[in-house]
Amino acid sequence: MTKLKKRKLLSIVVSFAVIISLLYVPKLEVNAAGQWMESSEGWWYQQEDGSYPWETWKEIDGAWYYFDWYGYMTTGWKNINGYWYFFFPDGRLATYMWIGNDWVDENGVWTDTWGTTGWQLRSGVWKYYDENGNECSGWIKSGRYWYYVGDGSMHTGWLEDGGYWYYFDSEGRMCTDWIWDGNDWYLMDAKGRWINDSKIIYLTFDDGPGPYTDRLLGILDKYDVKATFFVTSAFPSYAGCIKKEYDAGHTVAVHSFTHNYRQIYASEAAYWSDFEKMQSVIVGQTGERTNLFRFPGGSSNSVSRFNSGIMTRLSREAGQKGYKYFDWNVASGDAGDTTSSDVVFRNIANGVKGHNESVVLCHDVKSYTVTAMETFIPWALSNGYTFIPLSENSFGAHHPIQN
Ligand code: ZN
Repeated sequence: MTKLKKRKLLSIVVSFAVIISLLYVPKLEVNAAGQWMESSEGWWYQQEDGSYPWETWKEIDGAWYYFDWYGYMTTGWKNINGYWYFFFPDGRLATYMWIGNDWVDENGVWTDTWGTTGWQLRSGVWKYYDENGNECSGWIKSGRYWYYVGDGSMHTGWLEDGGYWYYFDSEGRMCTDWIWDGNDWYLMDAKGRWINDSKIIYLTFDDGPGPYTDRLLGILDKYDVKATFFVTSAFPSYAGCIKKEYDAGHTVAVHSFTHNYRQIYASEAAYWSDFEKMQSVIVGQTGERTNLFRFPGGSSNSVSRFNSGIMTRLSREAGQKGYKYFDWNVASGDAGDTTSSDVVFRNIANGVKGHNESVVLCHDVKSYTVTAMETFIPWALSNGYTFIPLSENSFGAHHPIQN
């Protein structure tokens, strides 16, 4: 072999080694997803094909980054196509959170919250802002609920104020009726104050709203008493009263859309279909579904006997669906026995004396019952009774089922 040939062979071997090392070495250092590179100007990203992203968004390991015109990773506030975004010091896009006093939405876009009122989560703490954007403290009414802001954040759990104990649930809402604080049951009145669990009256009004409902709401408001309405669609033109009831802090619950015994007790499907129709009317008025209801005729009714066992099946299904039904243990007698306000008054006043907790059956579609409230409510208040609207924790006053 000549010297020249030896050289040529050597150069071929060397170039081969160089080619192999070029192919091999990048494979060791660059994984399939590319790699972060740092220079004196900042971080950039080398993609698997050797190129780098510039003036573009890129998702890397589940986080979004933005690379500028030179290919460098963005940090801090940046306006992109007319929207402001915030990038953490490590380049990740911030989403759905407060950056100081600035809010970025689920897409990371900055949103103007100036003048926003109501509850806002700032740095993990719920705060309340009035219409001028000022932070509020103390007692706050928002929608139909009371809240308390102490020590700069929304209060939950027990609170002593003005000689009374109050309880706020995990969403900060002041509780009324029976509450469970994790250890025991306590009874709170309609103003949220912890009280003795006797001489409690749950006034309930069925079959409305109707022509006398507004007058009744006026009486309840005058004495600051909260009640419960088991509503129907008997008088569709009065459906707006459902919203008034709800906004005033009364409990709104399902009674029936048609209240037609033959129709609703014909089958389980017929019952729940009527129930859902009433539920939609309620949602349309209040924006909220209710889990509370009362069977037309009560759970002990015998009008459903044309369909053997239907009440047994419906009451079981109600529990499975997460609904709670209420009967009553005091009857006003206004369903047919009387048309006199005085008799209605006497029936209720005598009835509540026999119970620590009374669930009183009334009908706001009866003018004389509404009139009776003008005397019954002041009588009960002056005799030490407390009125509370029904809730999921209330006494159900269930009757024995007879069908
Ligand atoms: Zn009814």
